[in-house]
Amino acid sequence: MKIIRIHNELLGTYGDRGNADVLAYRAGLAGISATVVDISYRDGIPHDGDIYLLGGAEDAAQILSCNALSGGSLHGAVEKGAVVLAICAGFQILGKSFYANGEEQRGLGLLNITTVPGTQRYVGDIKIHSDLLGIDLTGFENHGGKTLLGAGAQSFGSVVVGHGNGETGVDGAISGNIFGTYLHGPVLARNPEFADLLLSRAHGSPVKVIDPLADHYAALRRSVVK
Ligand code: GLN
Repeated sequence: MKIIRIHNELLGTYGDRGNADVLAYRAGLAGISATVVDISYRDGIPHDGDIYLLGGAEDAAQILSCNALSGGSLHGAVEKGAVVLAICAGFQILGKSFYANGEEQRGLGLLNITTVPGTQRYVGDIKIHSDLLGIDLTGFENHGGKTLLGAGAQSFGSVVVGHGNGETGVDGAISGNIFGTYLHGPVLARNPEFADLLLSRAHGSPVKVIDPLADHYAALRRSVVK
């Protein structure tokens, strides 16, 4: 399995690079060999990846990353059914438009979402409930943008604690195999069930990961964000 970590030098501010490591580790626990490939913003995006990852960033880096992706290289992979996980700035980049450095920027249009300036900066612990996974997930958020879902974009979860997309009571968006969320953490380290869902989507069938720490993760989630 090939895991593509996109522009970590730009989208690495919040430690989301760990999502790639969690995926590779858990793939290994399930007997699937996986490699993580780092792609710089100076390079083209390969089309043969199974999972593509984008992380959070500050505004200037977010614009640079979006511009580098605007040639459409990610669209080819998505058309082939690749899985995409995008966090915060990465999530906003996948949408139709977002604001950075005080100006509206054109996004990649892979998700039917738009991000506008929020009424505050949304900072702190966050807990959401995912119907898809049937569990609560936790993380932390730190963003100024407020994201609105358009037709065909389903939310990733409902907000239990925190802000998520803004004042709408939901977090993130899902469309096919594309997942966007505001949860840093890294989200897959704190919520390994989500990692296993992404691995299963990429594998094309359920991936069984035997994880001796599963109960520990669940207890951690219950205790840290109330
Ligand atoms: N720059 C974006 C915002 O503030 C994203 C921030 C982030 O990725 N944490 O909304």
